[in-house]
Amino acid sequence: MKPIPLSLVTKISIIFSILGILLLILGIAIGSITGIIVIILGWIVLIGTIIFKVIFYRCPYCENFIGIPYHNHYCPHCGKRLD
Ligand SMILES: [Zn+2]
Repeated sequence: MKPIPLSLVTKISIIFSILGILLLILGIAIGSITGIIVIILGWIVLIGTIIFKVIFYRCPYCENFIGIPYHNHYCPHCGKRLD
C-alpha cells in the first residue's frame, strides 16, 4: 500500500473528526427520527476516521502503527524522524 504523508493523514483525520462531532451536535439539536439518523451518520464518520487513521497513520520507514497520542517527531519503533 502506498503511504500517504503523515501531515495529510492528520489533516484529513482532523477535518472528519470535526465533521463527525458537528453531525452529533446537529443530530442532538434536531431531535426526532431525523436527528437520530444524523447522530448515526456522525458516529459512522467518527468510526471511519479512526479506521482510516489506524490504516494510514504508519511510519513511512518501518510501516509500524505510530499510535494516536503521538507527540514527538520520531517513530517509537525504529527511531527515525517523521515529518
Ligand atoms: Zn518506524
